[in-house]
Amino acid sequence: MLVGTKPPCAADGETDGSGVAPPIAPLFRNSTHVVTARVGELRAALPVAQRGRITMAVAVAEDSNGVRTVLVATSEPRSYLRPGVTLRPGETMVGGTAHAEANIVAHVQANNLLVLEIGATRPVCVPCQDLIDPTGAKILTPLQPRLRT
Ligand SMILES: [Zn+2]
Repeated sequence: MLVGTKPPCAADGETDGSGVAPPIAPLFRNSTHVVTARVGELRAALPVAQRGRITMAVAVAEDSNGVRTVLVATSEPRSYLRPGVTLRPGETMVGGTAHAEANIVAHVQANNLLVLEIGATRPVCVPCQDLIDPTGAKILTPLQPRLRT
């Protein structure tokens, strides 16, 4: 599990409410770190009482020109972002009415993007895993276990 780890990264680590957005250039070097670090930040930004209720998901997607973007989705209605939860330059908020991860999958399919890696602030539920798996994206954060039948 990579979530919660803090690999040394010069562009990272100054995200403590200073309001200065670090560059997202590492996207092109280490998208895995971008996703896992951002998931950790978003989880930390959610009020403790809400962390069990709200899911936020982060994904790195690539268009047909190889241009990468960071997608952020929330399970909250109308893409509501709580105070303290902000998007960075270059990040795209993905709306929708389903789970955060499912909203990202719908967005990439509607926009003909390739989702490379995805993570969420809570364990990814089985229906979302089943949506994500056919996209080929790597799920970088914990999964809810499948029940044995
Ligand atoms: Zn789900």
